[in-house]
Amino acid sequence: MHPRRYSTGQRLARALDFGEFCLHYQPVVDLRNDRIVGVEALCRWPQSGNVVGLPDAFIPQAEASGVIIALGEWVFRTATEQVHRWETQYGIRLDLAVNLSSRQFLHLQLVAAIEDALRQASLAPGRLEFEITESVAMHNAEDSIGIMRQLKHLGISLALDDFGTGYSSLSYLKRFPIDKIKIDKSFVHDIPNDANDLAIVTAIIAMAHALGLQVQAEGVETKAQADFLRDCGCELAQGFLYGRALPAADFAEAFDPHLGILRSLSA
Ligand code: C2E
Ligand code: MG
Ligand code: MG
Repeated sequence: MHPRRYSTGQRLARALDFGEFCLHYQPVVDLRNDRIVGVEALCRWPQSGNVVGLPDAFIPQAEASGVIIALGEWVFRTATEQVHRWETQYGIRLDLAVNLSSRQFLHLQLVAAIEDALRQASLAPGRLEFEITESVAMHNAEDSIGIMRQLKHLGISLALDDFGTGYSSLSYLKRFPIDKIKIDKSFVHDIPNDANDLAIVTAIIAMAHALGLQVQAEGVETKAQADFLRDCGCELAQGFLYGRALPAADFAEAFDPHLGILRSLSA
């Protein structure tokens, strides 16, 4: 007999049922003092032989098959519960950022499901941020504004992820009820050597501030990058300089609540 063959969507749905996904948490730091103020939850799908499936490989398939709705709810519940648990067990108080993909964002039940999960996790909505990319926000921009307003009404913050890489209309940018712009790591990578990237990053920070938005840089790997961003007034950063995304247990073990850094990096 041939073993049963599953479609990718079926494999993802089964993986979710069998509890195969996990979340890693990457620190977000305040550039004024380099202290960790929050985490971004990033989904992983561990495979056999110590191989970890990264989201770029399975999120598009989860989107295409519709599994993203259930997976996204799981991510949200797991991450909010985790952050709440860190607070009650260790007194660690962190903001939480969760990524929303296109289908999740436009899902009719999104707001109701989030309200429900927020109630169960007892995490204050003010500690939560949803990240959506420019392309997701711009696709059907009028609908997006409506959904963003409902999320804001719940007290949740909104960030535009991977800013600068998607198709963005400045006239919409000023209408989106967002709180933060996240500069894509491709612009951060060649700082401070590439004059064009320096110009782009400086301009994004100035524009965001003029619009009353916070700025967070992604993919910060060197001190020189962090220094340049800080000098430009960028408020927040994440990247390997401060820590990679870690499983919950490793994060809690490495986190020093007094210094606000990951201990492995303090030596
Ligand atoms: P993102 O939201 O822009 O997440 C940042 C990505 O940059 C993460 O990749 C992170 O590991 C990586 N990164 C962080 N710091 C550095 C650095 O200093 N250098 C470099 N080179 N990379 C860095 P990851 O975890 O592979 O996630 C890729 C994308 O998958 C995410 O991009 C996000 O769009 C999506 N994603 C992850 N988790 C979820 C999820 O739960 N739901 C949804 N819908 N999408 C998710
Ligand atoms: Mg993100
Ligand atoms: Mg990003």
